[in-house]
Amino acid sequence: MSATTPHGRLQGKNAIVTGAGGGIGLETSILFAREGANVLMADISPPALEKAVAKVKELVPSAGRIESTKCDVSKESDVQAMVEMQDSWGGMDVIFNNAGIMHADDADAVDTPEKIWDLTHNINVKGVWFGCKHAVQSLRRHKKARGSIINTASVVALVGSATPQLAYTASKGAVLAMTRELAIVHAREGFRFNALCPAPLNTPLLQDWLGDDQPKRLRREVHFPTGRFGEAIEQAHAVVFLASDESSFVNGTDFVVDGGMTRAYVTPE
Ligand code: NAD
Repeated sequence: MSATTPHGRLQGKNAIVTGAGGGIGLETSILFAREGANVLMADISPPALEKAVAKVKELVPSAGRIESTKCDVSKESDVQAMVEMQDSWGGMDVIFNNAGIMHADDADAVDTPEKIWDLTHNINVKGVWFGCKHAVQSLRRHKKARGSIINTASVVALVGSATPQLAYTASKGAVLAMTRELAIVHAREGFRFNALCPAPLNTPLLQDWLGDDQPKRLRREVHFPTGRFGEAIEQAHAVVFLASDESSFVNGTDFVVDGGMTRAYVTPE
Protein backbone atom coordinates (compact mmCIF):
# COMPACT_ATOMS: atom_id res chain seq x y z
CA MET A 1 0.00 0.00 0.00
CA SER A 2 1.48 3.37 -0.93
CA ALA A 3 1.87 6.18 1.57
CA THR A 4 -0.91 8.06 -0.15
CA THR A 5 -3.51 5.28 -0.17
CA PRO A 6 -6.32 6.13 2.24
CA HIS A 7 -7.40 3.51 4.69
CA GLY A 8 -9.58 5.39 7.14
CA ARG A 9 -7.28 5.63 10.13
CA LEU A 10 -9.08 8.82 11.17
CA GLN A 11 -12.52 7.91 9.85
CA GLY A 12 -15.27 9.94 11.51
CA LYS A 13 -12.92 12.12 13.55
CA ASN A 14 -13.23 15.88 13.59
CA ALA A 15 -9.78 17.44 13.41
CA ILE A 16 -8.45 20.98 13.67
CA VAL A 17 -5.09 22.02 12.23
CA THR A 18 -3.55 25.42 13.00
CA GLY A 19 -0.93 26.90 10.71
CA ALA A 20 -2.69 24.92 7.97
CA GLY A 21 -1.80 27.45 5.28
CA GLY A 22 1.53 25.82 4.44
CA GLY A 23 4.37 23.52 5.45
CA ILE A 24 3.67 20.84 8.05
CA GLY A 25 0.10 22.06 8.65
CA LEU A 26 -0.90 21.73 5.00
CA GLU A 27 0.73 18.31 4.54
CA THR A 28 -1.02 17.13 7.70
CA SER A 29 -4.39 18.46 6.53
CA ILE A 30 -3.98 16.48 3.28
CA LEU A 31 -3.14 13.24 5.13
CA PHE A 32 -5.91 13.81 7.71
CA ALA A 33 -8.41 14.22 4.85
CA ARG A 34 -7.06 11.09 3.11
CA GLU A 35 -7.50 9.10 6.32
CA GLY A 36 -11.17 10.06 6.56
CA ALA A 37 -11.13 12.96 9.03
CA ASN A 38 -13.27 16.05 8.72
CA VAL A 39 -10.75 18.88 8.82
CA LEU A 40 -11.03 22.48 9.95
CA MET A 41 -7.98 24.28 8.59
CA ALA A 42 -6.99 27.44 10.48
CA ASP A 43 -4.38 30.06 9.73
CA ILE A 44 -3.68 33.76 10.26
CA SER A 45 -3.29 34.24 6.50
CA PRO A 46 -6.53 34.04 4.47
CA PRO A 47 -4.74 33.90 1.06
CA ALA A 48 -2.54 31.00 2.22
CA LEU A 49 -5.58 29.28 3.65
CA GLU A 50 -7.58 29.68 0.45
CA LYS A 51 -4.83 28.03 -1.62
CA ALA A 52 -4.30 25.30 0.97
CA VAL A 53 -7.99 24.35 1.11
CA ALA A 54 -8.11 24.21 -2.71
CA LYS A 55 -5.09 21.91 -2.67
CA VAL A 56 -6.63 19.52 -0.13
CA LYS A 57 -9.87 19.36 -2.10
CA GLU A 58 -7.99 18.80 -5.36
CA LEU A 59 -5.74 16.07 -3.96
CA VAL A 60 -8.45 14.37 -1.91
CA PRO A 61 -11.65 14.59 -3.96
CA SER A 62 -13.29 12.02 -1.70
CA ALA A 63 -12.58 14.10 1.42
CA GLY A 64 -15.24 14.56 4.07
CA ARG A 65 -15.89 17.99 5.46
CA ILE A 66 -13.05 20.43 4.71
CA GLU A 67 -13.53 23.97 5.99
CA SER A 68 -11.31 26.85 6.95
CA THR A 69 -11.25 29.73 9.38
CA LYS A 70 -8.99 32.71 9.90
CA CYS A 71 -7.47 32.40 13.34
CA ASP A 72 -4.64 34.19 15.10
CA VAL A 73 -3.72 31.61 17.73
CA SER A 74 -2.32 34.30 20.04
CA LYS A 75 -5.89 35.66 20.48
CA GLU A 76 -8.00 33.53 22.78
CA SER A 77 -11.30 34.69 21.26
CA ASP A 78 -10.10 33.48 17.82
CA VAL A 79 -9.07 30.08 19.21
CA GLN A 80 -12.32 29.65 21.12
CA ALA A 81 -14.37 30.51 18.00
CA MET A 82 -12.27 28.05 15.94
CA VAL A 83 -12.84 25.16 18.33
CA GLU A 84 -16.53 26.00 18.74
CA MET A 85 -16.97 25.89 14.95
CA GLN A 86 -16.79 22.11 15.30
CA ASP A 87 -19.57 22.00 17.91
CA SER A 88 -22.11 21.61 15.11
CA TRP A 89 -19.95 18.83 13.58
CA GLY A 90 -20.25 16.81 16.81
CA GLY A 91 -17.25 18.36 18.59
CA MET A 92 -13.53 18.08 17.94
CA ASP A 93 -11.63 14.82 18.47
CA VAL A 94 -8.16 15.93 17.38
CA ILE A 95 -6.35 19.25 17.43
CA PHE A 96 -2.90 19.84 15.94
CA ASN A 97 -1.60 23.03 17.56
CA ASN A 98 1.04 23.61 14.94
CA ALA A 99 1.11 27.35 14.13
CA GLY A 100 4.42 28.89 15.12
CA ILE A 101 6.92 31.52 14.06
CA MET A 102 10.67 31.99 14.13
CA HIS A 103 11.33 35.69 13.66
CA ALA A 104 14.25 36.99 11.59
CA ASP A 105 15.21 39.36 14.45
CA ASP A 106 15.36 36.55 17.01
CA ALA A 107 18.95 36.39 18.25
CA ASP A 108 21.00 35.74 21.39
CA ALA A 109 20.59 36.88 25.00
CA VAL A 110 21.99 40.31 24.24
CA ASP A 111 20.44 41.11 20.88
CA THR A 112 16.94 39.64 20.97
CA PRO A 113 14.50 42.59 21.14
CA GLU A 114 11.94 42.23 23.92
CA LYS A 115 9.09 42.75 21.46
CA ILE A 116 10.34 39.78 19.41
CA TRP A 117 10.51 37.65 22.56
CA ASP A 118 6.91 38.60 23.42
CA LEU A 119 5.60 38.08 19.87
CA THR A 120 7.26 34.65 19.63
CA HIS A 121 5.96 33.53 23.01
CA ASN A 122 2.46 34.89 22.37
CA ILE A 123 2.14 32.72 19.26
CA ASN A 124 4.30 29.68 20.05
CA VAL A 125 3.44 29.24 23.74
CA LYS A 126 0.23 31.11 24.55
CA GLY A 127 -1.27 30.00 21.22
CA VAL A 128 -0.63 26.35 22.09
CA TRP A 129 -2.04 26.85 25.61
CA PHE A 130 -5.24 28.40 24.19
CA GLY A 131 -5.57 25.48 21.75
CA CYS A 132 -5.17 22.96 24.60
CA LYS A 133 -7.54 24.84 26.91
CA HIS A 134 -10.39 25.03 24.41
CA ALA A 135 -9.78 21.46 23.26
CA VAL A 136 -10.21 20.20 26.85
CA GLN A 137 -13.37 22.28 27.30
CA SER A 138 -14.80 21.01 24.01
CA LEU A 139 -13.95 17.35 24.70
CA ARG A 140 -15.70 17.66 28.08
CA ARG A 141 -18.68 19.53 26.61
CA HIS A 142 -19.20 16.74 24.07
CA LYS A 143 -18.54 14.01 26.66
CA LYS A 144 -15.80 12.47 24.52
CA ALA A 145 -14.12 9.41 26.00
CA ARG A 146 -10.93 10.16 24.09
CA GLY A 147 -9.16 13.04 22.40
CA SER A 148 -5.74 13.62 20.88
CA ILE A 149 -3.89 16.90 21.16
CA ILE A 150 -0.60 17.27 19.28
CA ASN A 151 1.56 20.34 19.84
CA THR A 152 4.44 21.29 17.55
CA ALA A 153 7.70 21.88 19.39
CA SER A 154 11.12 21.43 17.73
CA VAL A 155 14.39 19.57 18.17
CA VAL A 156 15.81 22.85 19.49
CA ALA A 157 13.79 22.19 22.64
CA LEU A 158 16.10 19.16 23.12
CA VAL A 159 19.45 20.39 21.81
CA GLY A 160 20.82 23.91 21.64
CA SER A 161 21.02 25.66 18.30
CA ALA A 162 24.46 26.93 17.22
CA THR A 163 22.79 29.79 15.35
CA PRO A 164 21.11 31.78 18.13
CA GLN A 165 17.32 32.07 18.18
CA LEU A 166 16.74 32.35 21.90
CA ALA A 167 13.08 33.36 21.97
CA TYR A 168 12.17 30.52 19.60
CA THR A 169 14.22 27.89 21.46
CA ALA A 170 12.77 28.91 24.83
CA SER A 171 9.23 28.91 23.40
CA LYS A 172 9.60 25.35 22.10
CA GLY A 173 10.99 24.21 25.46
CA ALA A 174 7.83 25.63 27.03
CA VAL A 175 5.69 23.65 24.55
CA LEU A 176 7.39 20.42 25.64
CA ALA A 177 6.96 21.13 29.36
CA MET A 178 3.36 22.23 28.98
CA THR A 179 2.44 19.22 26.83
CA ARG A 180 3.99 16.78 29.30
CA GLU A 181 2.08 18.23 32.25
CA LEU A 182 -1.24 18.32 30.39
CA ALA A 183 -0.72 14.68 29.39
CA ILE A 184 -0.46 13.68 33.04
CA VAL A 185 -3.28 15.89 34.30
CA HIS A 186 -5.82 14.69 31.71
CA ALA A 187 -4.75 11.06 31.23
CA ARG A 188 -7.68 9.63 33.20
CA GLU A 189 -10.15 11.58 31.07
CA GLY A 190 -8.78 9.81 27.98
CA PHE A 191 -7.26 12.99 26.54
CA ARG A 192 -3.74 12.42 25.17
CA PHE A 193 -1.19 15.16 24.66
CA ASN A 194 2.00 14.64 22.64
CA ALA A 195 4.61 17.07 21.34
CA LEU A 196 6.05 16.76 17.84
CA CYS A 197 9.76 17.64 17.57
CA PRO A 198 10.70 18.23 13.93
CA ALA A 199 14.27 18.75 12.78
CA PRO A 200 15.03 21.50 10.21
CA LEU A 201 13.04 20.76 7.07
CA ASN A 202 13.46 21.08 3.37
CA THR A 203 11.10 24.06 3.12
CA PRO A 204 11.32 26.73 0.43
CA LEU A 205 12.20 29.31 3.07
CA LEU A 206 15.28 27.40 4.24
CA GLN A 207 16.35 26.20 0.80
CA ASP A 208 16.06 29.68 -0.76
CA TRP A 209 18.10 31.08 2.11
CA LEU A 210 20.84 28.45 1.70
CA GLY A 211 20.88 28.79 -2.09
CA ASP A 212 24.16 27.67 -3.69
CA ASP A 213 26.26 28.46 -0.62
CA GLN A 214 27.80 24.99 -0.17
CA PRO A 215 29.72 25.65 3.11
CA LYS A 216 26.56 27.09 4.70
CA ARG A 217 24.56 24.12 3.48
CA LEU A 218 27.18 21.58 4.66
CA ARG A 219 27.33 23.19 8.13
CA ARG A 220 23.69 22.13 8.55
CA GLU A 221 23.51 18.91 6.52
CA VAL A 222 26.45 17.40 8.39
CA HIS A 223 24.30 17.08 11.51
CA PHE A 224 21.96 14.64 9.77
CA PRO A 225 23.09 10.99 9.80
CA THR A 226 20.93 10.64 6.68
CA GLY A 227 22.81 13.52 5.03
CA ARG A 228 19.60 15.35 4.18
CA PHE A 229 16.97 17.63 5.68
CA GLY A 230 13.54 16.28 6.52
CA GLU A 231 10.38 16.80 4.48
CA ALA A 232 7.17 18.30 5.85
CA ILE A 233 5.23 15.19 4.84
CA GLU A 234 7.48 13.05 7.05
CA GLN A 235 6.24 15.11 9.99
CA ALA A 236 2.65 14.78 8.80
CA HIS A 237 2.85 10.97 8.80
CA ALA A 238 3.90 11.07 12.46
CA VAL A 239 1.02 13.40 13.27
CA VAL A 240 -1.48 11.00 11.68
CA PHE A 241 -0.18 8.26 13.98
CA LEU A 242 -0.43 10.48 17.06
CA ALA A 243 -3.92 11.62 16.06
CA SER A 244 -5.22 8.11 15.42
CA ASP A 245 -6.30 5.47 17.92
CA GLU A 246 -3.24 3.43 16.87
CA SER A 247 -1.30 5.57 19.35
CA SER A 248 -3.82 5.06 22.17
CA PHE A 249 -1.06 4.28 24.71
CA VAL A 250 1.30 7.02 23.53
CA ASN A 251 0.99 9.97 25.86
CA GLY A 252 3.23 12.80 27.05
CA THR A 253 5.98 12.05 24.56
CA ASP A 254 8.51 14.32 22.92
CA PHE A 255 7.88 12.64 19.54
CA VAL A 256 11.11 13.26 17.65
CA VAL A 257 11.06 13.09 13.84
CA ASP A 258 14.59 14.08 12.89
CA GLY A 259 16.29 11.29 10.90
CA GLY A 260 18.38 10.56 14.00
CA MET A 261 19.86 14.06 14.19
CA THR A 262 19.54 14.49 17.95
CA ARG A 263 21.08 11.05 18.56
CA ALA A 264 24.11 11.62 16.36
CA TYR A 265 27.78 12.36 16.75
CA VAL A 266 28.81 13.10 13.19
CA THR A 267 31.77 14.87 11.62
CA PRO A 268 32.25 16.18 8.06
CA GLU A 269 34.95 13.59 7.25
P1 NAD B 1 5.32 27.53 7.82
O1 NAD B 1 5.85 28.90 8.05
O2 NAD B 1 5.46 26.89 6.49
O3 NAD B 1 3.79 27.47 8.26
C1 NAD B 1 3.35 28.06 9.45
C2 NAD B 1 1.94 28.59 9.22
O4 NAD B 1 1.53 29.20 10.45
C3 NAD B 1 1.86 29.65 8.13
O5 NAD B 1 0.85 29.30 7.19
C4 NAD B 1 1.51 30.92 8.89
O6 NAD B 1 0.65 31.81 8.17
C5 NAD B 1 0.82 30.38 10.12
N1 NAD B 1 0.85 31.29 11.27
C6 NAD B 1 1.85 32.12 11.65
N2 NAD B 1 1.46 32.83 12.74
C7 NAD B 1 0.20 32.42 13.05
C8 NAD B 1 -0.73 32.77 14.06
N3 NAD B 1 -0.46 33.73 14.97
N4 NAD B 1 -1.94 32.16 14.09
C9 NAD B 1 -2.24 31.20 13.16
N5 NAD B 1 -1.41 30.85 12.17
C10 NAD B 1 -0.19 31.44 12.12
O7 NAD B 1 6.00 26.69 8.97
P2 NAD B 1 6.31 25.13 9.14
O8 NAD B 1 7.72 24.96 8.79
O9 NAD B 1 5.27 24.28 8.54
O10 NAD B 1 6.19 25.11 10.73
C11 NAD B 1 5.09 24.62 11.43
C12 NAD B 1 5.51 24.40 12.86
O11 NAD B 1 6.66 23.55 12.88
C13 NAD B 1 5.93 25.67 13.59
O12 NAD B 1 5.46 25.61 14.93
C14 NAD B 1 7.45 25.60 13.55
O13 NAD B 1 8.04 26.31 14.62
C15 NAD B 1 7.68 24.11 13.66
N6 NAD B 1 8.99 23.65 13.16
C16 NAD B 1 9.37 23.85 11.88
C17 NAD B 1 10.60 23.39 11.44
C18 NAD B 1 11.09 23.63 10.02
O14 NAD B 1 12.26 23.41 9.72
N7 NAD B 1 10.21 24.03 9.11
C19 NAD B 1 11.45 22.70 12.33
C20 NAD B 1 11.02 22.50 13.65
C21 NAD B 1 9.78 22.98 14.05
